[in-house]
Amino acid sequence: MNTLKMKNWGLGLGKHVIIAGPCSVETEKQIDDLCNSFEREPQIGMFRAGIWKPRTRPGNFEGLGDQALPWLQKVKNRLNIPVCVEVAKAAHVESALKHGIDVLWIGARTTVNPFSVQEIADSLQGVDIPVMVKNPINPDLALWIGALERMNKVGINKLAAIHRGFADPYDKIYRNKPNWNLAMQLKLELPDLEIINDPSHIAGKSEMIFDVAQRALNFGMDGLMIETHPNPEAAWSDARQQLNPEQLLTILKEISFRERID
Ligand code: PEP
Ligand code: MN
Repeated sequence: MNTLKMKNWGLGLGKHVIIAGPCSVETEKQIDDLCNSFEREPQIGMFRAGIWKPRTRPGNFEGLGDQALPWLQKVKNRLNIPVCVEVAKAAHVESALKHGIDVLWIGARTTVNPFSVQEIADSLQGVDIPVMVKNPINPDLALWIGALERMNKVGINKLAAIHRGFADPYDKIYRNKPNWNLAMQLKLELPDLEIINDPSHIAGKSEMIFDVAQRALNFGMDGLMIETHPNPEAAWSDARQQLNPEQLLTILKEISFRERID
């Protein structure tokens, strides 16, 4: 039996948490436009944004880096919700903490590498910040739990997991195939751990996000992380899967949130 020392950090405040924001921060205007759309939407509980982008192949947009951090501070002040970013190494953690980022997440390409995970953990020694850990690229539950344990061992007790699907070159439907059994197994092994679903990286296309998100909620997942962009077609990364704010709000209106099982 795996045990983690965990603290309830009020994720979702008893409701399903909705995390929304762009795959990547691109311009200050893009972020301002999103804030304008999100301003009166109490359902959005956390803002996500990538500023260090681990791209599978070189030559693609790899994120704006530190330059984008002041814009994210502005989001926090405007929307009054926590802001999360992906970190992949100690230098990212240092910059994020310096700029008041509220929550960190570890991406699938990082979870897969224990040395990288440990480097992040070491940089968080003595820091009280929530960390969300995406599943590794491959369906290896031990690797996923191992990353959570590495965080926990340095004193991070505000944790969550994110199911973003697994690489499966033989699958023609999903960008990253969901494995609901594995997610449920994680829930069984770590009953206090909240699991958020990322239908964007599972589906890979905007028109499939509703169905994946609904399935995740039916399986008892605790929240959704959905990539949202003011103008998805023009996005610098993951253009095909991002929703515009209106599409996001339609999904949130139509989807069936069951009672959260606590
Ligand atoms: C992302 O969230 O934009 C991202 C890069 O995700 P993943 O680590 O799931 O590929
Ligand atoms: Mn993305």
